[in-house]
Amino acid sequence: MKHRKYIFVVGGVMSGVGKGIASSSIAKILQVKGFRVTALKIDPYINVDAGTMNPTEHGEVFVLDDGDETDQDMGNYERFLDVDLSRVNYMTTGRVYEEVIRKERNLEYKGKNVEVVPDIPLEVIERIEKAADKARADITVIEIGGTVGEYQNIIFLEAARMLKSKHHGDVAFVMVSYLPVPSKIGEMKTKPTQYASRTLNSAGVQADVIIARSEAPLDQKRKEKIAVFCNISADRVISAPDVNSIYDVPINFEKDHLGENLLEVLNLPSRRKTNLKEWTKFVKKTKNGKKVINIAVVGKYFDSGSFVLSDVYISVLEALKFSAYANNVKPKLTYINSKDIENKKFKVAELSKYDGLLVPGGFGEAGVEGIIMAIRYARERKMPFFGLCYGMQLAVIEFSRNVCGWKDSHTTEISKSTKHPVIDVMPEQKTYLANGKFGATMRLGAYTAILKKGSLAYKSYGSNQISERHRHRYEVNPEYIALIEDKGLIFSGKSKDGRLCEIAELPARVHPFFLGTQFHPEFKARPLKPHKLFTAFIRATIKHSRKK
Ligand code: GLN
Repeated sequence: MKHRKYIFVVGGVMSGVGKGIASSSIAKILQVKGFRVTALKIDPYINVDAGTMNPTEHGEVFVLDDGDETDQDMGNYERFLDVDLSRVNYMTTGRVYEEVIRKERNLEYKGKNVEVVPDIPLEVIERIEKAADKARADITVIEIGGTVGEYQNIIFLEAARMLKSKHHGDVAFVMVSYLPVPSKIGEMKTKPTQYASRTLNSAGVQADVIIARSEAPLDQKRKEKIAVFCNISADRVISAPDVNSIYDVPINFEKDHLGENLLEVLNLPSRRKTNLKEWTKFVKKTKNGKKVINIAVVGKYFDSGSFVLSDVYISVLEALKFSAYANNVKPKLTYINSKDIENKKFKVAELSKYDGLLVPGGFGEAGVEGIIMAIRYARERKMPFFGLCYGMQLAVIEFSRNVCGWKDSHTTEISKSTKHPVIDVMPEQKTYLANGKFGATMRLGAYTAILKKGSLAYKSYGSNQISERHRHRYEVNPEYIALIEDKGLIFSGKSKDGRLCEIAELPARVHPFFLGTQFHPEFKARPLKPHKLFTAFIRATIKHSRKK
């Protein structure tokens, strides 16, 4: 077996300071130094996966090729590294316990007394090693969710500690900490980081590198202070000030030689060049575009109390950005809560200010009529429209109501008694729903679709066969396909067996860009490989903006 190295990334002081981006950036730096790198996320909650959680609670559910419903950080790893990860790269407390209990029931512990310690950490280690083996990784980056000192993640720190004693010299610990600059004091404070470092010590773990997140860069004096109080050398304290774009982070880290430092800790030959050429080219593009494209994103999960939660659609927003940068424009995204359209706080005619409308995925009844009003506006005014999953289903409903004339058209997700169930539950989903089996039972992950020659979808992809990721229970009702196509909406993408509608679009002579996908193309958009459908949409918005 190959000699593998491991880097654990843990959080100190508080959450939400960019541990996921730090982990992705560390992985990226080592990848461009020529190592094979993979990344894992450990979430300390009991949920077996992120699929059953409310988006306003958890943010986006990121779906992998194999259908695993995971945390949005997995999306960052895939985007930074340009790799496809699988379920071995993701674990939660619930998933680990579920497996240990399964093994115990199958007598796999051979009559032993199964205990939280060491059996839970041993299971965690087994999973980490499996992921490293699967990727044949030289270096595996493991992000432990939460903050040190929390009761919930202590068992994962224990696993990390045990892995280090098993592979001495092959394991590094990075603590991503936060240094506040209290406005009345005006000075950057290191004390919380000192406490976090001690808390980490009490779990038997010593940080090798500390990433100092703050609003400003870290000065030498504070580097030295952290060095003294946290038992590391000053050059292993990395300055990580706030940045405008998350894609600047690897470049910033390298200014403080993070990669070189980690290689030293891992006893790997250092002085390998960090080749961030491609990456830097992309980062330049994120700053270059002068022309601004205004995109209205109409959805329902934007509000949580008085806060706006754009994280819920993070992959969609990133995908839009990649395609915009590639076309030298700056995307300006405005989140419009569809409930505001319903209660007229936002008048649908105000959409004329925008160059395109995007409707992302979603579930349930709230805000749906507002979304349908927005789609109608985009269709009638020939404004570029891009609908993802629910966005596509709602476009089919809008068309059925206002073009086909079936006024009560609906999805059976909302109306069981409609006379025109143009969107209906997939047959194989019925038993799951009837038996209350909600976890990991949707149509999930990558499936192939076949595209109609000459269609907008076909032209955008430049191919007649695609593979995209899914997450849905409902579909275009097969009984309505011919009836709807008769009235002019084309189903230009179908599943391999020809049964399920994957893409709906209006022909070019009717509308410049009106397209919806049953799948989620956003999960496959990468900074260095913008997604072709998003690019086609962005180009349509550029054209539209010129016409206005
Ligand atoms: N609620 C719809 C379904 O289950 C769409 C899901 C989604 O947008 N991800 O089919």
